[in-house]
Amino acid sequence: MDKITIKDLVVFANHGVFEAEAVLGQKFLITAVLHTDTRTSGRTDELTNTIHYGEVSAEITKYFKENRFQLIEAAAEHLAEHLLLTFPLIEEIELEIKKPWAPIALPVDTVSVSIKRGWHIAFGALGSNMGDSKGYLDGAVEALRAIPQIQVLSVSSYIHTAPYGYLDQDEFLNGAVMLRTLLTPTELLDVFQKLEQDANRVRKIHWGPRTLDLDVLFYDDLIINSERLTVPHVEIQKRTFVLEPLVELAPWWRHPIYQKTVKELLDDLTSKEDSHVLND
Ligand code: ATP
Ligand code: CA
Ligand code: CA
Repeated sequence: MDKITIKDLVVFANHGVFEAEAVLGQKFLITAVLHTDTRTSGRTDELTNTIHYGEVSAEITKYFKENRFQLIEAAAEHLAEHLLLTFPLIEEIELEIKKPWAPIALPVDTVSVSIKRGWHIAFGALGSNMGDSKGYLDGAVEALRAIPQIQVLSVSSYIHTAPYGYLDQDEFLNGAVMLRTLLTPTELLDVFQKLEQDANRVRKIHWGPRTLDLDVLFYDDLIINSERLTVPHVEIQKRTFVLEPLVELAPWWRHPIYQKTVKELLDDLTSKEDSHVLND
């Protein structure tokens, strides 16, 4: 992607662990590399089509002076998020914060922290088969919309599905959402689990009845295997009630392990199910 670079912007501010740093303040040098698509502004030569680096520099200065952090790690983290939320055209930002006067009583040039943060695309599955299922799914989407670090790009229609796994329960209402998010995959799972709890979900039977179930289906093209999280969700390719909403949202999205689009996965699954019917 294209880049706009602001190099070594000098800001005098009061971050630091030591009292003297907070009281006297010191000089910081901030470098921001803004990843954005400059094609349109390059073709049109219009300032409104791009990120105004003057405004970004002013915003960095203002934010850095108005807020106070002990660690430059924290300053970088918060500043990156603030800029990504303030300037929607920034897809990704690399931030470096240098302290030329780091108080370590040794002859050092600068001490610095560099981070890279940005927007990611994620898909979530929604399910419910207790109480007012549509209300629970709508409520979850609304709650996601209310989180600044999440943008709900699109919501699928909801489909009615026969129970799966544990059969002695009511039918499900299922759907999917496409999100743009600044959250990491685990932070997104935290949000999903918090919303499940808010919907009074009680985990009793695996695959059993629930007011609200939110699963992380995809996160960019990442493959994650950790104790809490498997991404892509392991069952995607086996579930019509997940693939149908996904196909409605983004038929071209490619599963990073199977290397097939969700549309191809759904076609495969449907033809498999058809051949079962023929063989029965
Ligand atoms: P399934 O995951 O087969 O749809 P389920 O949704 O009923 O089953 P839960 O009881 O909701 O299963 O979740 C069990 C655990 O699965 C959660 O505690 C969570 O840590 C873990 N998990 C692993 N990968 C994911 C994922 N991609 N999305 C949501 N939860 C996940
Ligand atoms: Ca699930
Ligand atoms: Ca789940």
